[in-house]
Amino acid sequence: MPKITSREIRLASRPTGVPTASNFTLAETTLEPLQDQQVLVRNLFMSVDPYMRGRMNDKKSYVPPFEIGKVLEGGAVGEVIESRSSEFKVGDVVTSRYGWREAFIAAPKDLHGVNKAVQPLSVYLGTLGMTGMTAWAGLTMVEVKAGDVIYISGAAGAVGNVAGQLAKLRGCRVIGSAGSEEKVKQILEECGFDAAFNYKNGPVLEQLNRAAPDGIDVYFDNVGGESLEAALSALRVNGRIIACGGISGYNEEKPKPGPSNLFNMTTKRLTMKGLIVGDWLNRQSQFEKEVSGYFQAGRLKSLETVVDGLDEAVSAFIGLFDGKNVGKMVVKLSQ
Ligand code: NDP
Repeated sequence: MPKITSREIRLASRPTGVPTASNFTLAETTLEPLQDQQVLVRNLFMSVDPYMRGRMNDKKSYVPPFEIGKVLEGGAVGEVIESRSSEFKVGDVVTSRYGWREAFIAAPKDLHGVNKAVQPLSVYLGTLGMTGMTAWAGLTMVEVKAGDVIYISGAAGAVGNVAGQLAKLRGCRVIGSAGSEEKVKQILEECGFDAAFNYKNGPVLEQLNRAAPDGIDVYFDNVGGESLEAALSALRVNGRIIACGGISGYNEEKPKPGPSNLFNMTTKRLTMKGLIVGDWLNRQSQFEKEVSGYFQAGRLKSLETVVDGLDEAVSAFIGLFDGKNVGKMVVKLSQ
């Protein structure tokens, strides 16, 4: 096969506050000919995710920082276009961690084959991918059950909308908050939330108290900050918190002080559990079976915002911090 070139996005510099286009650079690389036990993949869609902001800092966390001058990493779904491995053949569709680039060469162990009859294939980055699994793992982790009243922040986002829909399927009363009237309408009408509010319209606690006058049993935290503080006040005795994300603080140079009402943990005997979806990989097939079953039966909607082309990937990523997405933000790389 002739040599293949691939455009890719690299980290140019580390951001201060909200990332800007100058923190990234677009480059072209030439892929080497395939060796035995290697597979060449052309990406169809790539994912942009809030956690990538943390990897742009020069600070070790649960994932290592991105390196300056090197191509970024992230979820992607692509098609095998050449294979020297018996595990994958041309035309297979695979997910990988080789996002932010048009094409790549990998070993079979770094690829995960998916059913290409399930459409759109971008669903493997959202509802049936990492963010859907985060939602499922969070609910499973604190044993969300029928009758629970659950409040979800970031409810119109990738994790939040799936968490809400799955909680409804489990028989919960579901309340969500999101950053615009359109998003509130969408989660009520398309995702079946029982109540929802725009957190920009007034104090979160006041709006949450109106939506759940008798309090909540579970809080699915995607946002931190004011939403977490409100949830600590609204939770009932023995309530549970899924500590999934804290996007309200990701671009802060200096961490803000924690909730002023943390003592509710004690007085109400609350439980707060941290979630890292990567810890749940040993249950991936259980997640896939359950959630793809709902999706294929039409019981779970996939919400996504699709941005076209690698050139738009950086603005799609930055747009996450400005609420530009409904559902999963994905970048389409080729047809
Ligand atoms: P989303 O699809 O929810 O996109 C981000 C959304 O966050 C935006 O659309 C915006 O929606 C909201 N947002 C942005 N800035 C703020 C702010 N200052 N205050 C409140 N909301 C804000 O992203 P994901 O669903 O992928 O991720 C949701 C959360 O889950 C993130 O915190 C992420 O880091 C975390 N996460 C954690 C994982 C884990 O393993 N623990 C795995 C995956 C995600 P709006 O218009 O409503 O403001």
